[in-house]
Amino acid sequence: MIDKCGRKINYLRISVTDLCNLRCAYCMPADGVRKREHRDILRLEEIVNIVKVGVQLGIDKVRITGGEPLVRNGIVQLVENLAQIKGLKDLSMTTNGILLNKYALELKKAGLDRVNISLDSLDRAKYKKMTRCGELDDVLEGIRIAGEAGLSPVKVNVVLIGGYNDDEIEDFVNLTLKSDIEVRFIELMPLGEAKSWPMGSFISKETVLNKVPGLIPLPFKGHGTVARMYKLPNGKGKVGLISPVSSHFCNYCNRIRITPDGKLKPCLHSDQEIDLKNAHPDEIKRLLYEGIKSKPNKHQLDTQHVSIVKRNMNEIGG
Ligand code: SAM
Ligand code: SF4
Repeated sequence: MIDKCGRKINYLRISVTDLCNLRCAYCMPADGVRKREHRDILRLEEIVNIVKVGVQLGIDKVRITGGEPLVRNGIVQLVENLAQIKGLKDLSMTTNGILLNKYALELKKAGLDRVNISLDSLDRAKYKKMTRCGELDDVLEGIRIAGEAGLSPVKVNVVLIGGYNDDEIEDFVNLTLKSDIEVRFIELMPLGEAKSWPMGSFISKETVLNKVPGLIPLPFKGHGTVARMYKLPNGKGKVGLISPVSSHFCNYCNRIRITPDGKLKPCLHSDQEIDLKNAHPDEIKRLLYEGIKSKPNKHQLDTQHVSIVKRNMNEIGG
């Protein structure tokens, strides 16, 4: 479907839970979040129905996210049901990787195409400190097993945080030397828990280019591509730079989001929400259409303005 700004909207991100087995300081409150009543979150059948209707409207790419999607009961079955929807060309998941050791093979067999794994530090103590409980070795094992299972290309998402991991940029880039993974540096957004973080935490993608001047730019693919791609000379993998704060990619935005409680969010940085919970399929079609048509042309987020959005990232899905 084409929105009012002429953008083709073909990408849906569904957050299947706001719960998580980690507590990343920029994303979740230290005590976690209160578990919602079952009746308040989308049932798995509802998610499948919404995606079916979305596909009729031109969605051909779906990402399952959270919270941590792998803590949602029935996640493998959900993947299997989504993978069978005719017209869906790309089914992926964003995960913290902690449980991939257990699930990667099952997910691949169920029809998941690929995973993005979030990892902000390669240092055990720093990783544990930011996630407030995570074990680095579990994620590294998850990355390895995901590659072996064929959930490729495996992409590693690194949120750039000044004073925390800017000294590890070269180490992350060097992961692409011998492995065909894609390391993607993402600017920290002043959203949710990070709204009150000091200015120095927000560093731009230029920091990566300054630290690793040898990165070679790759051609920009345009529509729906939010990452500017680079590679190291002789590198097997790639490096992506994603800059939601320093340079907006709203012109190329092709996505809509659905929260665990069934709210359609046409734009990550807007509080506009359309309730899809318990809606009849005909109604879902009308509401998705309405949401896509009313998608804002751009957001106001930059280094001077924090996001106006009230939800935390775990309640929206990154
Ligand atoms: N739990 C999964 C994970 O961590 O990959 C999926 C959900 S998480 C909300 C999705 C992505 O959003 C993660 O890569 C996380 O680092 C990113 N994220 C969360 N808060 C963010 C913020 N304020 N700015 C930039 N990225 C953020
Ligand atoms: Fe959980 Fe992902 Fe948020 Fe970390 S970023 S607390 S892993 S939802």
